[in-house]
Amino acid sequence: MASYFDDHGVNELSENLTSDELPLVMARILLRFGFADDIWLTTMGSDGLGPYPTAKKVIEELPTQIITKEEAEKKNTCSVCLGHLEEDNEVKTLLCKHQFHTKCILPWLEKVNTCPVCREEFATDDPAYEEFRKYKARKKQRDFELDNLHNSMFG
Ligand SMILES: [Zn+2]
Ligand SMILES: [Zn+2]
Repeated sequence: MASYFDDHGVNELSENLTSDELPLVMARILLRFGFADDIWLTTMGSDGLGPYPTAKKVIEELPTQIITKEEAEKKNTCSVCLGHLEEDNEVKTLLCKHQFHTKCILPWLEKVNTCPVCREEFATDDPAYEEFRKYKARKKQRDFELDNLHNSMFG
């Protein structure tokens, strides 16, 4: 393993994260070798990921609605175009409950898998990215359990 990293200059790359692509290159290398530890999480904050399109299934299942006169009076804005959600506009509600015009959010989700407002991550169709998401979720759960254990012993 060490020789693979040396041969491919991976150490050098990881110190020069200039491109958004690099964290993902790291992830693919780590996945290929079944190797993952904290370095993965430190080099791959959610900001460094992607952009990845949102999974087609997720997009298809987003609830669609037409803004009523009453809702239009709330003057909610679509953060993509910064326009109001006006009466008769067709809107989609993301899993995080943020709403956008259908015509604004669809091209966005076809490029990125995060909410433009709160950056909540949605599933993608990319297997490597999905592995990473699962890993991150497991790691978070484990840290949470360790924290609780620590607090119950020493808190
Ligand atoms: Zn819009
Ligand atoms: Zn959101």
